[in-house]
Parts: sequence; C-alpha cells; structure tokens
Amino acid sequence: MDNQAKIIVKASWVGVLGNALLSLLKIFIGIISGSLAVIADGIDSASDIVTSLITLFTARIMMRPPNIRYPYGYMKADTIATKALAFVILFAGAQLAISTARNFLAGTERDLPGMLAIYVTIISIIGKLLLARHQLYKGKQTNSEMLKANARNMQNDVLISVSVLTGLVFTFLLDTPVLDSVTGFVVSIWILKVGFQIFMQTNLDLMDANTDPGLYNKVFRAVESVEGAANPHRVRIRKIGNYYMVALDIEVDGDISSRHAHEICVKVEEEVRRSIENVFDIMIHIEPTGFEHKEKVYGVSPEDLPDD
Ligand SMILES: [Zn+2]
Repeated sequence: MDNQAKIIVKASWVGVLGNALLSLLKIFIGIISGSLAVIADGIDSASDIVTSLITLFTARIMMRPPNIRYPYGYMKADTIATKALAFVILFAGAQLAISTARNFLAGTERDLPGMLAIYVTIISIIGKLLLARHQLYKGKQTNSEMLKANARNMQNDVLISVSVLTGLVFTFLLDTPVLDSVTGFVVSIWILKVGFQIFMQTNLDLMDANTDPGLYNKVFRAVESVEGAANPHRVRIRKIGNYYMVALDIEVDGDISSRHAHEICVKVEEEVRRSIENVFDIMIHIEPTGFEHKEKVYGVSPEDLPDD
C-alpha cells in the first residue's frame, strides 16, 4: 500500500471507531434514560459504521484482477455490499418506526427521559463535528472522495442529533414525554428514506443504467473526430464500479482492408479514452457505409438524445 492509501485507511478507521463510540454511548444512554429519540439517533450512527466497514473491506476485494471466472473484475462487489447495506438500514428503520408508532398510539404513560439523554446528545453533536472536520481535512489532503463523503455524511448526522436535541428540550419544557416518541418516529422515517435512496442508487449500477447522457455525446464526438469513421450508433455505456464499459457500432468504407478498418477502430478507442475518464473496455462493431439493421436494435444513436 502506498502512503496515500495508508492515510486514507487510517482516517477511515478513525471515523469507524469515533462513530462506534458515539453510537454505543447513544444507544446505551438512550436505553437507561428511556429516550426513544436518542436510541434512534444511535441506530442511525450504527448504520454509518456498517457503511464504513463495508467500504474498507470491499476495497480489498475490488482490487483483485479479472480472471477466468470474473472477466469483468471484482469492482461490482461494492454495489453488492451497498445493496446489502440498504436492507440493513431499511430493516433498522422499519423496526424503529413500528416501535415508536406503537408507543405513541398505545398512549402508555411514559416517564420523562432522564437529563442524561440531553447530555449525550450534546456530546454526540460536538464529537461528530470534530470527526467530520478530521475526515474532511484528510480527505482534502489525499483527494479521497470516500473520506469527503464520510465527512458529508457526518455533517448530516449532526443535523439529526440537533433535531433530537430540540425534541428533547421541548419534551422537558412542555413536560410531554410523548414528544420524545414523535421525534424518534421522525428520525426513523429519515433512516427509512436513506435506506430507500441507497437501494434505488444501487439499482442503477446493477441494471446497467447510464445516468449521464453527456457521455453519449462524448462518444459521438470522438467518432466524428476520427477520419474514416462515421455514423456512430447503438452506443451502450454501463458502469462497473467506477469504470465504464463502452460498446458501439460505427461505419467505415466497405472496400477498405481489415487492416485499415482496425486502425480506424484503434483511433476511435484512443479518442473515447481521451474524452471519458476511467474506461474499462471499449467494443467497436464495424459496418460498411449505408448498412441498415434489419431488426430493431438497442443502444443510443445521436437522434435518440434530446436537443440541448
Ligand atoms: Zn449498426
């Protein structure tokens, strides 16, 4: 591992351990002080720990080179791990929503949560702010998107803790323990929302979606810039981890040699790689000028894109 990677891994572990400490503290204090909102906040932090751990461990799998069984490499391991995480978060959120709603609907007389609930929430806010600053600093130092994303995630957590704190303060001021259940329910809805977003996001990768139409234009322009290559169509772009697989059809003069046609393809490949970063592989299918597909074929052609 190079120095840069070492700093990233070390900073990730600082994030994991810091989060774990705060999460355990919140769940523990939430239970003994009887605050559902604080428990909910703790569960939300716990899901972040799982996220960071998954990132750290799948990073190793993703780096394995392609082989006979996995010719496209291991980079989608990340998508699979994140999909599993979405289910964990959805499950935790649903459990929490059910228990807080039940508590609220049953209208059971609850005691006011202890003051400890307020203290631990304040500690959590300060702790998360410090952690977020640390992750952002190391993220900028190493230019790691993962650490920067970690920092943003932690800033979101601070927002959750601030709303829990607000809920607790009103619970005490108005002497209405039921407000604590309401805050807990709101946080559980937030957790469900995050879980659902992650679920949908991973669907895009698993279903080979391309959410950036600008990439098609880059491919069309790359083909147009190569002499002898024309009519780019049936362009298909999909993602494997952070890399792109590109496949397309082009037309060349039907009477040139295969050697010449191959040279044109190599140039098209070079141009595509020049305009799109992180290309894993490019597949080009050649047709003689004027060739028409008899059957309906999928893929994107210039006329499929909306005018901009
Ligand atoms: Zn074609």
